[in-house]
Amino acid sequence: MKNIRNFCIIAHIDHGKSTLADRLLQTTGTISDREMTNQALDDMDLERERGITIKSHAIQMNYNYKGEDYVLNLIDTPGHVDFSYEVSRSIAACEGALLIVDASQGIEAQTISNLYLALEHDLEIIPILNKMDLPGAQPEEVTDQIVELIGCDPSDVIPASGKTGLGVDQILEAIIERIKAPEGDPNAPLQAMIFDSVFNPFRGIIAYYRIMNGSIKKGERIKFFNTGKNYIADEVGVLKMDLSPKKEVGTGDVGYIISGIKAANEVKVGDTITSLENPTDKAIKGFEDVKPMVFAGIYPVDTDDFEELRYSMEKLQLNDSSLVFEPESSAALGFGFRCGFLGMLHMEIIQERLEREFNMTVITTVPNVSYYSYMKKNPEQRMIVNNPSELPDPAAMDRIEEPFIKAQVITKSEYIGQVMTLCIEKRGELQNQVYLTQDRVEITFEMPLAEIVFDFYDRLKSVSRGYASFDYFPIGYKESDLIKLDILLNHEQVDALSALVHRSNAFDLGKKICLKLKELIPRQQFEIPIQAAIGAKVVARETIKALRKDVTAKCYGGDISRKRKLLEKQKAGKKRMRQVGKVEVPQEAFLAVLKLN
Ligand code: GDP
Ligand code: MG
Repeated sequence: MKNIRNFCIIAHIDHGKSTLADRLLQTTGTISDREMTNQALDDMDLERERGITIKSHAIQMNYNYKGEDYVLNLIDTPGHVDFSYEVSRSIAACEGALLIVDASQGIEAQTISNLYLALEHDLEIIPILNKMDLPGAQPEEVTDQIVELIGCDPSDVIPASGKTGLGVDQILEAIIERIKAPEGDPNAPLQAMIFDSVFNPFRGIIAYYRIMNGSIKKGERIKFFNTGKNYIADEVGVLKMDLSPKKEVGTGDVGYIISGIKAANEVKVGDTITSLENPTDKAIKGFEDVKPMVFAGIYPVDTDDFEELRYSMEKLQLNDSSLVFEPESSAALGFGFRCGFLGMLHMEIIQERLEREFNMTVITTVPNVSYYSYMKKNPEQRMIVNNPSELPDPAAMDRIEEPFIKAQVITKSEYIGQVMTLCIEKRGELQNQVYLTQDRVEITFEMPLAEIVFDFYDRLKSVSRGYASFDYFPIGYKESDLIKLDILLNHEQVDALSALVHRSNAFDLGKKICLKLKELIPRQQFEIPIQAAIGAKVVARETIKALRKDVTAKCYGGDISRKRKLLEKQKAGKKRMRQVGKVEVPQEAFLAVLKLN
């Protein structure tokens, strides 16, 4: 135990976490130069392409330092707010954290929010000034920021570069010297905290855990504390580049277990594994059942593909327990699923995986948050509304509540004005404003989660010319004056386009949505009125003029290859079109609300 070190790496996105992790793996010989592909830890194609870590992973390194052998467990954390609960559990599995800050960028919002999580768990922080090789690096200034933030000595900050390898030996030394060895009682009943799980098509579900007390043995009967389910530990071991089976994994160590678990939702991040024969009487604290935050309908483009879509979603759920879905039907789109996601990135990932891994072409409707509605006749009874088109009759409703978040923006002082204006426009309430350095300021405010689901992030980037970073966490539900805005195409209401909006925004939004739909829906043989309505009252209207001529007419007699190209283009465009009543509607139109600015 005294030669084990458990640590994670926390950083704002793009500050070089994955690259530095690769250097550590290389330097410790965990991965050979030949095996080295960039970012060995990001093993999903999507992760590699987008350069983000979606799921957290763990890997064990061996390192000889001053003649002693050490085991270093690196627990990688996902870098996106959608997965902040997973981040918190990964952090809870460690004694120390490498805090990476890009020397050319300085401290950003996720640097701070992850740092706070690490400090909450009493982690030893090793500050690293990364990307020192960049000509734009500002070591003195950024070191000052770090010193100010964590109150360390400037000499504690390690200058490094994941690119050139600068500082890597010093980092390994600091991991061993500064981070304390795990504590825990090897003779106590088993308590292991699950911080991640993955689905392997050959092995089933593999759960990753950190052992707090006791040990876990191959063949032993075990129990998951929160789900109450029992299993046999068919295989246990540690995580190298591959699974490395062992007879036993002991106190303080990080390992995996394969135990005939069928579905991902049996394994809950934060749950405690204990022994069935000699169980612990208390779970490791901090467990939460994560709930989806964002909901949207997913429909097959071709209505005949519904069963295939169900099959694909079930497969996806096998390895992503945070995805939830249930069948729903829409007058406009037919049969599909209402899906719950952890956030917007999670939703995009699912949509992309459906298309890439299952070859499904789907229509996604405007995402919304989950609302609580209360009826006049029973104002204490909470009803959950995950689909705006299912909102009860406003006349019978007592009130409606929506989820709020606490948001944190870090920006340059010259953009404070614009950022504040945006926050207020997004129904935000300022809580606090702190200067981190002379020209960097941290602004904290509360606002409805629904505004993030809309276009907050893109707007923030544009008003700050990219010089703002952003993070948030949920703080519960509050009453809001929300109303349902309906959209009618060719006089028919399209349920998939309904949205719940704040009363003060409804007219303006109605107008903008109509304009956007006019732009997105192609002209057809007849005139199409587009209307926005609140109840029976139309608040905005646009008209798509009828198409005069056949689009291919101008090609007749002309260049035949040009005509074919045009037809092919039309065919490709069709892939993502849905017939709604008489009107052909492209996928983008269903997301029009998100693209208003
Ligand atoms: P992550 O999002 O924190 O995991 O960051 P990555 O490791 O994916 O790095 C983000 C980008 O910065 C990539 O394009 C890397 O090639 C680049 N990068 C990472 N470390 C360094 C470094 O030390 N120096 C330079 N010049 N570029 C780096
Ligand atoms: Mg990464």
